[in-house]
Amino acid sequence: MSKQLILALSKGRILEETLPLLADAGITPVEDLGKSRKLLFDTNLPDVKLVIIRATDVPTYVQLGAADVGIAGKDVLLEHGAEGLYEPLDLDIARCKLMTAGVTGQLPAEARRRVATKFVNVARRYYAEQGIQAEVIKLYGAMELAPLMNLADEIVDIVDTGNTLRANGMEPRELIAHISTRLVVNKAAMTMKHDRIKPLLARLESAVKKRQTQPIE
Ligand code: AMP
Repeated sequence: MSKQLILALSKGRILEETLPLLADAGITPVEDLGKSRKLLFDTNLPDVKLVIIRATDVPTYVQLGAADVGIAGKDVLLEHGAEGLYEPLDLDIARCKLMTAGVTGQLPAEARRRVATKFVNVARRYYAEQGIQAEVIKLYGAMELAPLMNLADEIVDIVDTGNTLRANGMEPRELIAHISTRLVVNKAAMTMKHDRIKPLLARLESAVKKRQTQPIE
């Protein structure tokens, strides 16, 4: 195993909140990520490199050991499954909710419900647990469109302020899970590279704790 630690970060919204947290933990990329088209970056710590990848790919990279450590939303982790991964730390960023939602004022379908989502595994589990028959339809984006176009009766999606739903004539219904961003670690790396992962975990843990006791303005 290489002596370096590869840390896989989720692109997009989570990245915007991850970089300041990493900086608080004393980890900074040596170049400006926004100005580069590269995907692999050195950091100020000689043994830590960053890869910036799609959020949904982070669990796969870490599970298969291409990255030792990853930062991913709990939504992505619930959908992917936790095999081969430890989840030792809640980073307390990018908080939101995974919810069902439907057209405002319209009652959920009594019979077999058509549900559009990119979280097909989560949705299947959820409706089965509720004893509701559901036909889960996989979509890759713009879930809010599905009920408007009569493709589905309901959606399962991330809700933060609820503005996206409201703007499309929809309302949140049931809470499936509270979501935040988590640190995940490859199980083999946790043992084999423990001497490197332990201090990284400690840095991040104390940065998270510090923020929780001194909220940022
Ligand atoms: P909102 O309109 O504030 O409810 O935001 C909802 C949309 O923003 C969702 O459709 C998501 O795609 C996205 N979103 C909000 N928060 C997050 C998050 N923490 N992680 C990933 N996507 C998010």
